[in-house]
Amino acid sequence: MIDRHESQPAQQNVGWQFDNTYARLPELLIAPAQPIAVRDPKVSILNTRLAEQLGLDFGGQSPDAVARLLSGQTLPEGSEPIAQAYAGHQYAHFTMLGDGRAILLGEHRTPEGRLVDIQFKGSGPTLFSRRGDGRAALGPMLREYVISEAMHALDIPTTRSLAVVTTGEPVYRTAQLPGAVLTRVAASHIRVGTFEYVARSRAEIHLQEFADYTIARHYPELIDIPEKYREFLRAVIDRQASLISKWQLIGFVHGVMNTDNMAISGETIDYGPCAFMNVYDPETVFSSIDHNGRYAYGNQPAIAQWNLARFAESLLPLLADDQQEAIAIATAEIEAFVPRYQHHWLSGMRQKLGLQTVEPEDLDLIQSLLQWMQTTRADFTNTFRDLSEGMPLSACYEDAEFETWRTRWQQRLQREGSSLDAANIRMRKVNPAVIPRNHRVEEALQAAEDHADLSRLERLLDVLSAPFETRDEMAGYREPLPDDGTYRTFCGT
Ligand code: AMP
Ligand code: MG
Repeated sequence: MIDRHESQPAQQNVGWQFDNTYARLPELLIAPAQPIAVRDPKVSILNTRLAEQLGLDFGGQSPDAVARLLSGQTLPEGSEPIAQAYAGHQYAHFTMLGDGRAILLGEHRTPEGRLVDIQFKGSGPTLFSRRGDGRAALGPMLREYVISEAMHALDIPTTRSLAVVTTGEPVYRTAQLPGAVLTRVAASHIRVGTFEYVARSRAEIHLQEFADYTIARHYPELIDIPEKYREFLRAVIDRQASLISKWQLIGFVHGVMNTDNMAISGETIDYGPCAFMNVYDPETVFSSIDHNGRYAYGNQPAIAQWNLARFAESLLPLLADDQQEAIAIATAEIEAFVPRYQHHWLSGMRQKLGLQTVEPEDLDLIQSLLQWMQTTRADFTNTFRDLSEGMPLSACYEDAEFETWRTRWQQRLQREGSSLDAANIRMRKVNPAVIPRNHRVEEALQAAEDHADLSRLERLLDVLSAPFETRDEMAGYREPLPDDGTYRTFCGT
């Protein structure tokens, strides 16, 4: 290890295996960067289970040494810290961006041979910080930690969170807040916005080189096939169609689906003003700045398609020599997003209802349930879980319309020869008992921020780590606040 403070003894290796492929890409993509020195780093939370999966062992290190490592005071041997350049459409407006408060340490090779980005968020300014301070506050970093780990447990592709370390230094937002650094682990941080950036650099050789790099990293099965770049576009579209369907099926609202926050790997990335929907309502918005509902729950599939159109535009020079032909190819692929998404969503919804066969009426069956939920303001998560846990159902389901629907659903199960019990067992594997309820997340973050009390957060993380089980500890974590309709999230800075 390279220790930047000579008075500290060098620590033994925790198992990092860095191979910095991104740092070897053309210079226009990267800027060297160094995590800043901070006064008093302390581990707030460490994901030992994830560390183990990554082949890392922090067990032999003192708490101070771990805090220094995971705040960038001691750089792992082999890391070559950089900030990544990218662009993006933010609320439909194009801007040049780049990691303004994130630093990529490099890619770590896991014991299974997977290459993952190890990135600090909040570790100080970079060439791309503009007027920002490059810092992050503890609350939003813990928020990303909880939500991303919850998403992972819910079987949704996502970046992961390895640790949050407080810096012992304040950050200044609307108030003075404790500063922190998050260690994020991702398949990569290559975004739609990275391709927009490369495409605008007007050096097509870079575009092809960058596309080849991305294909090798995330879609290696496409390396040697004809029409490789069209297949790449199609594969990215399909992964996004699948990802967004999973968000919709679980009630996740990302909140800021700018093109710089959409990963080519198909992982959910950038947990800012995100939250889970309680009452089923397609217009659900949590972000305090999303006044027009651009990123509302019900708009997410359309926005994903819009973002993918920006991705397709960036790839045009690779799709065909003739521009008109390239546009025709891109358009056909982008149009295919809708049926791909519908397919993933409909099969996911069938699973949520325990259905194993396909009937033409299924869409209508699903839509009538959603309609009922919307008019009666039923909780999205709990309705599906209650249906999965068998009868009797509580008073809120004593409703003629719901009874009619339930009879219809049970007849549908009978037609395919499924018993209700067997269907319920299947349903409990896809309909969570717990999600990160907004008030539970807030109270856990508040305790951590105000009193450095992590016990609530740890309990919450424990409950969220097995969301499909029914456990006694979950009591109190399943219900939304009675009137959570005004809940607002703020951009995670
Ligand atoms: P986000 O909304 O987190 O996706 O961030 C949008 C852009 O703003 C990214 O390029 C970030 O790197 C940058 N950014 C956000 N917060 C800060 C900050 N505190 N300092 C510098 N750059 C920032
Ligand atoms: Mg972002």
